[in-house]
Amino acid sequence: GPPGGTGGDDWAPTGIDVSKPSIARVYDAVLGGKDNFAVDRVIAQQSQDIVPEIGDVARFNRDLLGRAVRFMAQSGIRQFLDLGSGLPTVQNTHQVAQSVAPDARVVYVDIDPIVLAHGRALLAENHNTTVVTADLRDPKAVLDLPQVREFIDFDQPVGLMLVGVIHHLGDDEDPDGIVRAYLEALPAGSYFLLTHFCASSPDALALEGALLTSLGTGRFRTLEEITAYFDGLELLDPGVVYLPQWRPEEPVAAELTVGQRLMAGGLALKH
Ligand code: SAM
Repeated sequence: GPPGGTGGDDWAPTGIDVSKPSIARVYDAVLGGKDNFAVDRVIAQQSQDIVPEIGDVARFNRDLLGRAVRFMAQSGIRQFLDLGSGLPTVQNTHQVAQSVAPDARVVYVDIDPIVLAHGRALLAENHNTTVVTADLRDPKAVLDLPQVREFIDFDQPVGLMLVGVIHHLGDDEDPDGIVRAYLEALPAGSYFLLTHFCASSPDALALEGALLTSLGTGRFRTLEEITAYFDGLELLDPGVVYLPQWRPEEPVAAELTVGQRLMAGGLALKH
């Protein structure tokens, strides 16, 4: 059946444009959430037509996020900067981190105001977590945000997260320089988590073309290009790999499907 909810579009919070698709809402539709509109569901459906496993891919991504945040929290990280955090679903960064360390602080940053509208309700009772609407393409502005300064002590290690978002930046937007600017602001002992669409099959390239047409963004990069974002850091075991291969909790088949190879990611430590 079609991904996402099937309800009407009359619930939109003020300031939300329901005539144009949004990345956050398309992703929500792919994950089977209800915070999406008809324009978003069309793109989710198109994506599913090209890669039938697209829902699984989103879940691989959320699962990896959960495993990596748990590892960072268990390694002593008590503050997380989650950029392009998306609509809260299950296994949110703050829930995973705070299940390990209740005092862990999380700042969610997303360009889409629907994330803030939704996050406010979820976080009303959580004083260690905040949501900010901002454009991550301006690292200086994001790093200087009052909420970021209040929640993150840049003298202490940080868990920097760019999960499923850098592929929404075109090459002309200097994704490399943007990633570097965030990493430079972090002290030694900080971690960097990145996942990214991977140019790993003809179907992946077909999806890239469809997303560029419908959403206007979606740049699938090679494993080498994705690995280059970690330059200068200690890439932790097992390196940059396809999502299900990153520290799996269950055995993974040697031969991966198109969906299993659709995204890749890794976790690194800054020295
Ligand atoms: N990080 C979450 C995850 O991996 O499950 C959500 C990923 S979702 C595919 C990408 C998110 O990045 C969307 O919520 C979108 O609004 C956000 N985003 C895209 N461009 C952005 C930008 N320039 N600044 C901040 N957020 C952005």
